[in-house]
Amino acid sequence: IPVEAFDLVIIGGTGDLARRKILPALYQRFNAGQIGKKSQIIGAARGEMTSEAYRAFAEEAIREFLDKSDVKVRALKSFLKLLSYVTLDAKGETGWEELAGKMHSDRIRAIYFSVGPSLFGDLAKRLHKHGMAGEGTRLVVEKPFGRDLASAKELNQMLARHFDESQIYRIDHYLGKETVQNLMAVRFGNMLFEPLWNSQYVDHIQITVAESVGVGTRGGYYDRSGAMRDMVQNHLMQLLCLIAMEPPAKFDPDAVRDEKLKVIRALDPVEPDNIVRGQYEGDGERPGYRNQVESRDSTTETFVALKAHISNWRWAGTPFYLRTGKRLKDRASEIAIIFKDAPHSIFEEDGQRHNNILTIRLQPNEGIELGVTIKEPGPGGMRLVDVPLDMSFAEVLGPDEADFPDAYERLIMDVIRGNQTLFMRGDEVEAAWAWTDPIIAEWDGSGQAPEPYAPGSSGPESAMFLMHRDGRRWREIK
Ligand code: NAD
Repeated sequence: IPVEAFDLVIIGGTGDLARRKILPALYQRFNAGQIGKKSQIIGAARGEMTSEAYRAFAEEAIREFLDKSDVKVRALKSFLKLLSYVTLDAKGETGWEELAGKMHSDRIRAIYFSVGPSLFGDLAKRLHKHGMAGEGTRLVVEKPFGRDLASAKELNQMLARHFDESQIYRIDHYLGKETVQNLMAVRFGNMLFEPLWNSQYVDHIQITVAESVGVGTRGGYYDRSGAMRDMVQNHLMQLLCLIAMEPPAKFDPDAVRDEKLKVIRALDPVEPDNIVRGQYEGDGERPGYRNQVESRDSTTETFVALKAHISNWRWAGTPFYLRTGKRLKDRASEIAIIFKDAPHSIFEEDGQRHNNILTIRLQPNEGIELGVTIKEPGPGGMRLVDVPLDMSFAEVLGPDEADFPDAYERLIMDVIRGNQTLFMRGDEVEAAWAWTDPIIAEWDGSGQAPEPYAPGSSGPESAMFLMHRDGRRWREIK
């Protein structure tokens, strides 16, 4: 469904995120007919550049980051006509009058803060000063939203001085993933799962976000952040919330976000022996983390595994195991809900556990899979075998339907439509920091280095132990 003509400003429009994600996503939506020719997209950044040069910059980005088959020459040409550029200084007066002059007062104005959070306050103030903060303006704010509770509160307050919460769209691109939304459809659109969705029937839950790459050239940024801040506080927490939350009364922004907030607030503090942090080493081919950052004795973690407990009626007694890391065996993200064993087996024991597992795969091959136990075919007697009931979207829906738009496409269009359901509310972000802050403080206080792990492995030994001591094991990263 096409959206009405809008003005979108990408502040930081010449940055890496604009190149890799925002511009390609906008082109894709234009190509799909969702963005019309009257909309305008304004790149704004500190550097001097003509609009012509910005169009060339955008074209190059689109060609570099999209599949060749997605880039249609004519569509690209007309898309580029929507683009212009303004030299703008977040911290000074340059460009603000010009930007204000380009905006339409009768349109939705989306302002994408694709810059570091240290500029959010200045940007909010100047948008207000130049008459661009009124109704109809929506701010899109990138991660990281602070580095602890205090800084997140400060950011929230700075934005709140000039903008209402209903105007602020805090991005967590994991929420824009099609499968993550499908998780909600599966939970709340079927009778089948919800009655079993509690500690009586669920043994435990595993959330894994594994990357095979290291920090690459982002070492400078990463070393001040680490896996806890960069991944757990936002992405993994958001996934945990969607699994654990109570059914909202409606699928609307505040109903959903109220329920997520309750989950975060019900999380117990994590005891030190329920958390493991690691840092990858080098091998013959690839440098270790410490050789990729300035500080040779950096204690920043590139891996975290933890066991979380949610103290409420639904989940008391069911642990949530979370793990994420870089330079692991494979790039694979999934949520697995492991149901309890059947209370009694009527079949001859085969020594194997046969528990149902619902797996939500985020990457690669987005899809949902339900592991069920059936009889092994053939005359060999009543032998049991576990097979997947695969809800592979590509197979069921056909390749076109399953050609998911990138999370950024979905989320940017939600901003234009004014739907905040898949964006984090200020209080959610603060509650998540309130939970992670003591963990980080404990690490900082101990001065201990993270446990080293081999590149291409599944993480440090202690992460395996975290599971083994509970009689469980991590699913293979693949
Ligand atoms: P970047 O350093 O590549 O780009 C920053 C942009 O901001 C440039 O266009 C620069 O000109 C502009 N800028 C800097 N100072 C300015 C000022 N005073 N006034 C106006 N413009 C100014 O950064 P990036 O990688 O594009 O990241 C942008 C934001 O998005 C950061 O907060 C980052 O954490 C976040 N983010 C990035 C990625 C990614 O993949 N790159 C992913 C998630 C979140």
